[in-house]
Amino acid sequence: MVKILANDGIHPQGKAMLEAAGYQVDTDKIEQDHLTTELPAYDVVIVRSATKIRQDLIDLCPNLKVIARGGVGLDNIDVDYARSKGILVANTPAASSRSVAELAFGHILSLSRFLHQSNRAMPMEGGTSFKGLKKAYAGGQELRGRTLGVLGFGRIGQETAKIGLGLGMNVLPVDPYIENATLVLDLGVPDKVETNVKTVPLAEMLTNSDVISVHVPFSGDKPLLGEDEIAQMKDGVILVNTARGGIIGEDALLSALESGKVRAAALDVFVGEPNPNEALLKNPRISLSPHIGAATSEAQANIGTELATQIIDYFKSNS
Ligand code: NAD
Repeated sequence: MVKILANDGIHPQGKAMLEAAGYQVDTDKIEQDHLTTELPAYDVVIVRSATKIRQDLIDLCPNLKVIARGGVGLDNIDVDYARSKGILVANTPAASSRSVAELAFGHILSLSRFLHQSNRAMPMEGGTSFKGLKKAYAGGQELRGRTLGVLGFGRIGQETAKIGLGLGMNVLPVDPYIENATLVLDLGVPDKVETNVKTVPLAEMLTNSDVISVHVPFSGDKPLLGEDEIAQMKDGVILVNTARGGIIGEDALLSALESGKVRAAALDVFVGEPNPNEALLKNPRISLSPHIGAATSEAQANIGTELATQIIDYFKSNS
């Protein structure tokens, strides 16, 4: 029988799929130091970021056939070494794409109607200054007919574009590696609408977008949207970063909010997490969340079921 150790846990849906396939799934955590004696008994290890699977441990586990990482990053696994030993290393990069895209739109809708500000002010002043707040938060904008710039047209960028299209926005995606993509808008079974969306040059996106949402990988060097890029944008643009802290330069963003060039911004990710710049946290024009893009029950369930599917497929084709 295939023996699986889910050392950092697995969603019940994924566990149920593996058990239905006839596999044994152990979820009691084994401390890192004890894995050298316990892991050799297993065919598969499922980890998140906590458990480390290094070369010396792999050498002790000749039965190990699959190392499965729930989530994206593989820093805790010696991937090349594992693959050189014929071990499948699997992860779940698509599991949270929809969740991140929906969070981006949660912020965009909130900013368009000042909800982030009125939620801060109403508890304090709603009883005494209702009319004043009503005036302060008038002047909102509909999204329909506005233009959404999407920097990075990969998994999350495409999900974000789909939501934008569903709201009636024009979408201008930028991606040096993708010319176009066919997006399938699922309007509920059996209706699905397919549309092909072409990417555009960066300058075209910057100069024409009312809202810009970033969905690119980032090395942490120079911001991709800094002072120069912000200068090219429409006055009153809304900027959203749910990708990695610093893709939109934080100092440039603060200056542009101050001058009004950028009307408002949303940040789920920050330079220096978990200690973000206080000036960002206190800025009333920024809608904030503490890096929760992937933190939904659906994304966690997807991680479990995607891993289970890959493990079951592996043993089906290698039995
Ligand atoms: P992906 O690899 O599917 O897509 C990224 C796209 O960016 C690729 O198509 C790539 O060609 C493109 N790209 C690379 N460099 C670019 C550039 N300079 N300009 C424009 N496009 C460029 O990745 P994804 O799964 O869509 O993830 C996107 C981002 O979201 C990553 O930074 C990831 O770390 C982040 N993320 C955040 C959360 C969260 O909790 N907030 C969760 C998951 C992922």
